[in-house]
Amino acid sequence: MSKVFIKKDREKMWYTGHPWMYSGAVDKIEGNPMGGSVVEVYNYKQEFIGYAHYNKNSKIMLRMLEKNIDKKIDLNWYSEKVREAFTLRKMVKIDSNAYRLIHSESDSLPGVIVDSFGDYLVVQASTLGMEKDKNILVEALKKEIPNLKGIYEKSEGDGRKLEGLPEISGILFGEVPDEIQIYEGKSKFTIDLKGQKTGFYSDQRDNRVLMGSLSEGKDFLDVCSYTGGFSLHAMVNGANSSTLIDVSEDVLNVARKNLSSYESVEFIKGNIFNVLRDLVKEGRQWDLVNLDPPKLAPNRRDLPKALKAYKDIILNGLKLTRKGGFLSIYSCSGAVTSSDLRMALAFAVKDAGVRAIIVNQLHQSPCHPISVAVPETEYLKGFLVRVI
Ligand code: SAH
Repeated sequence: MSKVFIKKDREKMWYTGHPWMYSGAVDKIEGNPMGGSVVEVYNYKQEFIGYAHYNKNSKIMLRMLEKNIDKKIDLNWYSEKVREAFTLRKMVKIDSNAYRLIHSESDSLPGVIVDSFGDYLVVQASTLGMEKDKNILVEALKKEIPNLKGIYEKSEGDGRKLEGLPEISGILFGEVPDEIQIYEGKSKFTIDLKGQKTGFYSDQRDNRVLMGSLSEGKDFLDVCSYTGGFSLHAMVNGANSSTLIDVSEDVLNVARKNLSSYESVEFIKGNIFNVLRDLVKEGRQWDLVNLDPPKLAPNRRDLPKALKAYKDIILNGLKLTRKGGFLSIYSCSGAVTSSDLRMALAFAVKDAGVRAIIVNQLHQSPCHPISVAVPETEYLKGFLVRVI
């Protein structure tokens, strides 16, 4: 196995549990490791510090996997990780058959996301190392997860580009139907696992349940509705009406199907930055306003612009909220911290001239655990506020 030696003190992050080692930390390489292969990593005192996936074409040249020299990165190792992740998911008692089974670094598998939908899994590999080990991972999943009927791969996104990998999708095991039925609490959804646009965001599960619990007899505004997850929870819980806004006709069509048994549902296709302003001009208001915009700050550099956008969205959201109503705002940008979002909320509340109190601080659901050592694994944050 090839050996990679790193510069003095560059192992500190790994000792805290953060598995990324940038190319600038690497001093020398012994051997000629293949891209994506497992290498031994040593500190400048020539002490073994772990095994890692190696990719010379990525800024993150090493993804540390294991500290124990006696372990091998093989089927057993992958099975152990999958078993541990699955055990946690069973312990946190998820009232849904749609959840994240593997949340990359948080589950000690950097570069892999696995989502579970009923008897099917969707795998996303975002590093060259995991791309190469995909078959072992699939074997481990087959071994550890009972009643599996199929595994589908949907490997896409910016991470793969940075690793020099193309996007791929296709069946890895068994059979995967075009549509499958899932449940989340009392709500039932049809999802298209193979579709480009219509997966399902299980990170918002607890927040959908919370908003649903406030919805009886209320008018609900679902901003950036996607396939209607929040609205369905609202309607199932007896909401008076729901209005969905999304820029994509494709996702609204799926939302129409998911909500087809309800009459008082309205769909608005458009860009929220225009639609919200127009609704304010029309003088419309709702009891519950749910603001779930897409990632507005891909990295820290975009932060000032993103915070202005969050403030703008919240300000219009507050104007659309009836007195005594609730507004929730979420950010799924890793670069935006909870304090950043709270600041945007504070400025918006001031400009709206209302009084608002934070009732709940919101997070990604527990099937998306946060690694204490890897802040990047905490990405969804939000606030539920009561407008007084
Ligand atoms: N609330 C959803 C997830 C939202 S994902 C759920 O719980 O399932 C973000 C959504 O925002 C996507 O559906 C995307 O189409 C939509 N979107 C992105 N930019 C937008 C814009 N400028 N205006 C309106 N919708 C937008």
